[in-house]
Amino acid sequence: MTDGPVYWNPVLETYPLEKIRVLQLKKFNKIFQWAYDNSKFHRKLYHEAGVGPDDIRTLEDIQTIPKVDKSAMQDIQRKDPFPYGDALCVPLEEVTEYRQTSGTTGQPVYQPDTWQDWEWWSESWAYLLWAQGYRPHDRVFIPFGYNVFVAFWAGHYGAEKIGCEVVPGGVLDTRARILKIQELNATAMMGTPTYILGMADTAVNEMNLDPSQLTISKITCAGEPGASIPSTKRRIEEAWGAKVYDHAGATEIGAWSYECLEQPGGMHVNEALFLVEIEDIETGEIIEKPGRRGKMIITAFDRQAQPCIRFDSKDIIEWDANSCSCGRTFRLIKDGVVGRADDITKVKGVLFAPSAVEDVVRGLDGLGNEYELQIDTVDSREQISLQVELMPEAETRRETIEAELSDQLRLKTNLHYDLKFRKYGELPRYQVKANRFKDNRNNL
Ligand SMILES: [Zn+2]
Repeated sequence: MTDGPVYWNPVLETYPLEKIRVLQLKKFNKIFQWAYDNSKFHRKLYHEAGVGPDDIRTLEDIQTIPKVDKSAMQDIQRKDPFPYGDALCVPLEEVTEYRQTSGTTGQPVYQPDTWQDWEWWSESWAYLLWAQGYRPHDRVFIPFGYNVFVAFWAGHYGAEKIGCEVVPGGVLDTRARILKIQELNATAMMGTPTYILGMADTAVNEMNLDPSQLTISKITCAGEPGASIPSTKRRIEEAWGAKVYDHAGATEIGAWSYECLEQPGGMHVNEALFLVEIEDIETGEIIEKPGRRGKMIITAFDRQAQPCIRFDSKDIIEWDANSCSCGRTFRLIKDGVVGRADDITKVKGVLFAPSAVEDVVRGLDGLGNEYELQIDTVDSREQISLQVELMPEAETRRETIEAELSDQLRLKTNLHYDLKFRKYGELPRYQVKANRFKDNRNNL
């Protein structure tokens, strides 16, 4: 049981959906007008599309407004004024925060925020941390190299806003971080699934220490989809003896979704702060009902320095038909963020999402957490290979595990894999975000 009130914002988190929709339209119009009035980039974009603030009378009207994606932001920021281009809606002297995206898909996007925007970041994190059971008595350890990226600065300030005691684990190495958790009896932490699993490996294999015996009772994961992949979540929960909750957010967007204490098999969208639309990838139609996946188009209502209006995030999501037993009326997205439009590719004519492979590998006892996926063209045929690590104690069950792995992969992904077993410790380890999928085809 978690003490205190259930909700961070009891009014908005339980607001009837019809009322939320009215509020969303009102807030959308406000930020739309703001961007129109204050950013040359936005005004030109909307002017060319023939749409202005007076044209948006219903939520459906919003669909006529042009989207903006990462490549558009990269283009704007290559032009003057330096460094944000003419999408900036406030005088430069009002900017108090600089962050940037990780740049895994090209030139990083720079993100300016005002002090008010930064307060808004903390508020959005306060919703999610409270929903995951963080309370003022928690001592939160953040095992992350604080840097130009927004993770986990916003988590840090969100936890402070709630009243938690926050311990920044910045430049410490993994062993020192584990010792600090032990010394201070930290009760919660935040990190990428890759890193949190790697910490558990270090504790067991290099320090002879069982992380489930430490005092961590809840872990917030972000940055990768792992905490919504059932087998990865289970592995982290077992290793740490803690509950694991997912969160999805992004530098250009904000902290838009979170799993709650009920762990409903999906995440709530914070509909008081964001408008989420789901677009069919092939037809461009907006998907209103559960049952079909599409990519997320998102608007942050209250972010002012560099607004996020109909941002094409490329995250693949789907509305959940179920409501959540926690009582929040914010809708759920089923299974969290299930992939990225950029990562979903066709292999041998079959639609393939790498996260499905992770679920299979980590669902099998006897295999380590790491894996490497690779697609090549061999003699003009596509070939997909998967390397996994066999744990030493599972050596005698190698054939059974191989057969089961092959069956499960075929069942979940409809593909045949060239499987390679490696010894535990042979595959690369990743510090923060993993890059386990290599597509070596020439963009077929
Ligand atoms: Zn819930």
